Amino acid sequence: MISSIQFKNTNIDVLRLDAMNLPVGGNKFYKLKYNIAEALEMNFPSLITFGGAFSNHVCAVALAGKLNNLKTIGVIRGEDDTNNPTLNFCREQGMFLHFMSREDYKNKYDENFIDACINKFGDIYLLPEGGTNALALKGTSEILTGIDIQYDHIICAVGTGGTLAGIISTPDLRSKVTGISVLKGDTNLSEKVSSLLDVENENWEINYNYHLGGYAKYNTELMEFILQFEKTYSILLDPVYTGKVFYAIFDMIDKKQIAPDQKILAIHTGGLQGWAGWKYRYNK
Ligand SMILES: *Cc1c(COP(=O)(O)O)cnc(C)c1O
Repeated sequence: MISSIQFKNTNIDVLRLDAMNLPVGGNKFYKLKYNIAEALEMNFPSLITFGGAFSNHVCAVALAGKLNNLKTIGVIRGEDDTNNPTLNFCREQGMFLHFMSREDYKNKYDENFIDACINKFGDIYLLPEGGTNALALKGTSEILTGIDIQYDHIICAVGTGGTLAGIISTPDLRSKVTGISVLKGDTNLSEKVSSLLDVENENWEINYNYHLGGYAKYNTELMEFILQFEKTYSILLDPVYTGKVFYAIFDMIDKKQIAPDQKILAIHTGGLQGWAGWKYRYNK
């Protein structure tokens, strides 16, 4: 589903992964699709994954596990908080949550820990933090399936880069692809994305100018932008990813870094579940 919006004489097509009624929200559906298929095919009883206490990825794994009758284990950075709506959503899906101190979390993939989990839960299919791996890429390279890809410019959010890498891997793509990084200081991202790709496509870049202070950080300008955007276009953006993406696109149009005659496709990767956690976290 595509919504067309106008900003200063520039048309932007928005691919609405947020509004497509996917069983698991937004880009996470594509990232998990082939991983879940593999776990089922290989008869793994459980999935294990890792993330922060407000992670869209951990939520998506909890939900996907429930829908596919797989047990799920979420290894969460930091302490439990029984009022955190994100964690409670995961628990409601039947996810077992294991909390790790920030120090221990740095070694979360440690063999001893994973072995202990296998002892406790049986064989576990491991999804890395953020969910980006080769099978995720196979899924995200289907995001543009069925869409006329005659765009000059395709723009999406970048967290771990699995979604961007999938878009870049779309067969016969000739558009310039730009990823907007929502993280501060992770300047290795371009290398990570390059290493994931198995196609020859150099027509892409990551823009690091719009993290607005860092991952899940915000300022009042961003919040006002998101409110105004919803009023004007009736499209709700999320505060962590897509808010920053559209803020970036509008700013690049303002600064004439994107010419008005360019055909633009922006991907709304979803993430709206993040609002509950965001409001709780920042007490709004
Ligand atoms: C997880 C997420 C992303 C980031 O995807 P990556 O593949 O990790 O880069 C982007 N947008 C939304 C809404 C997300 O939830």
